[in-house]
Amino acid sequence: MLADAGLYGLLLRLDQDLARTAQEKRCGWCGGRLDRADYARKPRGLPPELGAEHKVRLSLCCAAEGCRRRTRPPSVRFLGRRVYVGAAVVAITALGAGRRCAEVRDLRAWLGVSARTLARWRRWWRVVFAESPFWRGARGQLRTPVPVGALPGALLRRFAGDLQAQLIAGLRFLAPITTAAGAM
Ligand SMILES: [Zn+2]
Repeated sequence: MLADAGLYGLLLRLDQDLARTAQEKRCGWCGGRLDRADYARKPRGLPPELGAEHKVRLSLCCAAEGCRRRTRPPSVRFLGRRVYVGAAVVAITALGAGRRCAEVRDLRAWLGVSARTLARWRRWWRVVFAESPFWRGARGQLRTPVPVGALPGALLRRFAGDLQAQLIAGLRFLAPITTAAGAM
């Protein structure tokens, strides 16, 4: 699924929609007009055939003299400052520790993620994410509770559709944590 270029096309369009919505809201500090101020990233975990547009974080900058503050719209593609794209981080950690070992090992090899990095990502779900104000607020929106130890796999399974649809829905759900205000 992570090797399918179509997935990243869908995610890019979602990010463009999120950026447009944020731009219409104007600057959160002064109400000024927001201009696009995208910046280049060097993400890992993308299929090699993808173009340069997949390596750009969409971003906004206030046009008002004396403000010029950056607004980062939510993103379904970049999960904070992580080098790996959000889809890779969420998909591999969703496979769950200790279960389906061969699947995790194969995906880790394909992405080039070290065992240490994967362990750090798993800890992040349990410790940082689970304790965040975002999760404390958002978990109440879910009809059935998601135990912290089963994040993010159990969260993805709450969404309808096939694996790709669940991954995309999960990334949309998590997108508020990728803005400056929700940064972790
Ligand atoms: Zn401003």
